[in-house]
Amino acid sequence: MRQSQLFGKTLREDPKDEVAANARLLERGGFIYKSMAGVYEYLPLGLRVLERVNGIIREEMNKIGGQEILLSALQPKERWEKSGRWASLGEEVMYQFRDHSGREIGLASTHEEVVAEIAVRSIRSYKDLPLFVYQIQTKFRDEPRAKSGLLRGREFLMKDMYSFHRDTDDLNKFYAKADKAYRAIFKRCGLAVYMTEASGGTFTKEFTHEYQAPSPAGEDLIFFCENCDYAQNREIATMKEGDPCPKCGGRIATTKSIEVGNIFRLGAKYADAAGLSYTDEKGAKKPVIMGCYGIGPGRVMGTIVETYNDAHGIVWPAGVAPFRAHLIVIGNQASPKHPDKSGATGQARIKNQAEKLYNRLLKSGVDVLYDDRDDKTAGEKFADADLIGIPYRIVISERTLAKKGIELKARAESSSRIMSEAVLIKKLLRKTA
Ligand code: ATP
Ligand code: MG
Repeated sequence: MRQSQLFGKTLREDPKDEVAANARLLERGGFIYKSMAGVYEYLPLGLRVLERVNGIIREEMNKIGGQEILLSALQPKERWEKSGRWASLGEEVMYQFRDHSGREIGLASTHEEVVAEIAVRSIRSYKDLPLFVYQIQTKFRDEPRAKSGLLRGREFLMKDMYSFHRDTDDLNKFYAKADKAYRAIFKRCGLAVYMTEASGGTFTKEFTHEYQAPSPAGEDLIFFCENCDYAQNREIATMKEGDPCPKCGGRIATTKSIEVGNIFRLGAKYADAAGLSYTDEKGAKKPVIMGCYGIGPGRVMGTIVETYNDAHGIVWPAGVAPFRAHLIVIGNQASPKHPDKSGATGQARIKNQAEKLYNRLLKSGVDVLYDDRDDKTAGEKFADADLIGIPYRIVISERTLAKKGIELKARAESSSRIMSEAVLIKKLLRKTA
């Protein structure tokens, strides 16, 4: 992609109304555009990152047998009255209104009700179980504290998976698989998370589990063991800082953290409300046991930015970066302050070389953003590259031309190296580092 044509430009200054680092950096970098509190538009750079996150989630959900679906945001009131949540969610977060015919409609803040209702058509006997479906879809929630950028949207993407089982044993087996998939997802996104025990809230009396990424930007507080992986959410914590870990005896510490995902055992509540049951081997009618599993891809993206940034901008982990490399051409612009030493032919040579390399990178399958802008100085281009945070920066300039090589610098490192095109491409195509 040519940066000169990119929809969305970098900003010199931080946006005035943003406090969260993820919102400041993502808006300044031209990844997102703020429409109002908790409502962000994704521009090409931002959408690329979001789709990388979604791609990782999809792969891991498909691996454990998930079937992808897409459910509607518009919801009839009657469905939610059956589960008893029209009133309670209406008071909390659900947007509810009347359409022109006077009918009461809600915007889904979650999808247990409808997925259980649809499952009635699929699940009749024990032979139809277990079943796993998921979607990556837009949720609406009238969040009272929408000040954390992508961490807390009022319109946001959620990956929600729902599982259907014949009994709790079978649910527990899948719950462990979902846990593994979640750990793989967060690892691939560059996030170190704790799986913390949390209260079941309105869903269940058992623990639910949250995936918490330690961060000063977090709204949650967790207690975790410095030695093993044991952790509890503040709401249910039976320990305090300095206590011995109940699992291994290590020291308990505390940190602010961001809940990037969670998994719940739902029991038969939503299945019962929707009239969902199955017949077992003996012909007896039994309740269907459900589980649900959530991740916020936008919140994950925001958490990555909170975790990976420095004084100059974002430092994307390779697995979610919008591009693999950022190709920058310097000296292609005539500057009145620094008259071109080698003259117009020098400029043309540099530009020509950069265009050639750009095409070769594309042909070799390297995902590259090409800063071909003629009206920016080297300083402006470097500052933008640091802000945008693509893992590798490639420079073509008078200097590299003279040295008969290409300059490569990792965003996370401060020194660069000059190398041949063949070595450069090989390095960029390598999966890791
Ligand atoms: P929180 O306690 O932070 O409000 P929640 O318990 O309401 O989260 P769920 O309803 O279980 O979260 O949603 C599942 C996942 O969706 C969360 O783990 C989080 O990653 C994401 N998520 C929830 N609310 C938001 C939001 N307002 N903006 C962005 N992502 C969200
Ligand atoms: Mg919430």
